[in-house]
Amino acid sequence: MKRADVIVIGAGPSGLRAAGRLAAAGLDVRVLEKKSRVGANVVCTGIVGKEVFDDFGLDRRSVIEELRTVRLVSPFSTVLTYEHPRPFACVVDREKFDNALADAAVSAGAAVACDARVDDIAVGREGVEVTVRDGQGGVLRQAAAVAILATGVDFGLQKKLGLATPRDFLNGAQVEASLPGRDTTTLFFGRDVAPGAFAWSVPAGEGKARVGLLTKKDPKACLRKLLDAHFDGRPGTGEEVPIRTKPVAQGLLSGTFGDRVLAVGEAAGQTKTTTGGGISYGLTCADLAADVILECFGRSSFGAADLAEYERRWKGLLQKEIVVGHYTRRMCARLSDGRIESLFHLAQTDGIVPIIREKADFDWHSGLIFALLQRLSFMKFFRDVKDRLGPVGLS
Ligand SMILES: Cc1cc2nc3c(=O)[nH]c(=O)nc-3n(C[C@H](O)[C@H](O)[C@H](O)COP(=O)(O)OP(=O)(O)OC[C@H]3O[C@@H](n4cnc5c(N)ncnc54)[C@H](O)[C@@H]3O)c2cc1C
Repeated sequence: MKRADVIVIGAGPSGLRAAGRLAAAGLDVRVLEKKSRVGANVVCTGIVGKEVFDDFGLDRRSVIEELRTVRLVSPFSTVLTYEHPRPFACVVDREKFDNALADAAVSAGAAVACDARVDDIAVGREGVEVTVRDGQGGVLRQAAAVAILATGVDFGLQKKLGLATPRDFLNGAQVEASLPGRDTTTLFFGRDVAPGAFAWSVPAGEGKARVGLLTKKDPKACLRKLLDAHFDGRPGTGEEVPIRTKPVAQGLLSGTFGDRVLAVGEAAGQTKTTTGGGISYGLTCADLAADVILECFGRSSFGAADLAEYERRWKGLLQKEIVVGHYTRRMCARLSDGRIESLFHLAQTDGIVPIIREKADFDWHSGLIFALLQRLSFMKFFRDVKDRLGPVGLS
């Protein structure tokens, strides 16, 4: 088979976006996806900031709901309702969302192959070679000048190449089921609900909701408990609606590139360390990866020294967000339920809501974190967090 310019491994949002950009610039791009169809069985709540569609010129047909109001439920069932001045995010159908990106990549000239699992990768002086296993167990080899690893939380190929892989994870679990009346996005906090992070219920259209959580503990057990406590045991206890799990990568990675290869999206740890969302950072970094690869083709030089520019650029954009979010979330995971409860009461009286209204941004959280830490720094715990983060925030 003729050697491609770029092989993209993984047809999630990050890989498909990079493939589309590179194909649009005239390169011969092949996307290899192990699943039998793009977007199949993705474990994701599908919330993206409203700006994503305009920023990346994306089709809006995948949008199910627009979000404007959020209910926050404390460990002791205190409820706060926050209404943003306008819709700030959308819930999407991930299969449709990913397929819109696949269609854009194919229209630009990329080839997308499903049932194509990359089992092995080797980098030589002249190019990259991958071993691909198809749905029937057949094996073939494909070669390219450059490979993009966009494999999400599947890190086998990165390990093989000695690229960095995340060391910290949150365990995610989710069900999507018919839950009429659950049409307001609700976040649940507390050590009993989602130790280490938080849980949610998000409307998914036609009377359905996605109920999920991130935790450091057993995510299925925690989700069953949440369903029992807040959803009359439905739907997780019924065998017909499976709870699906997947980890979320956390923390800043160094070493997301090598000779002729780079990692993008969740594979490179490019997720929001506050909420676990990774779609928009993945799209953003896919564009940076495409820019740098195109520059490499301009020079016909694909060494690690050339691709290092990719990591420099994505860190320039995301390092502060990832580091500040990661530290803050880990510190907040130490809060007792009593302390969380007192924050809920403080929020009702203490001018926190106006700060959120002014500073909240769906994808960029460090500005809000610093503003809240400043406001709460009369409490020693938050003063310590703020002091610890000061140097990062200033850099
Ligand atoms: C419970 C939960 C809820 C979430 N909710 C949200 C949310 O609301 N908003 C948000 O922004 N993010 C959310 N996320 C995170 C989001 O799902 C990921 O960050 C996002 O999918 C990352 O995109 P990606 O393209 O980097 O990787 P992925 O979407 O994971 O795509 C990777 C692709 O690579 C393929 N692949 C892997 N290995 C190989 C191989 N060897 N050969 C061929 N193909 C391979 C996989 O099959 C997959 O299709 C959530 C995560 C969880 C666990």
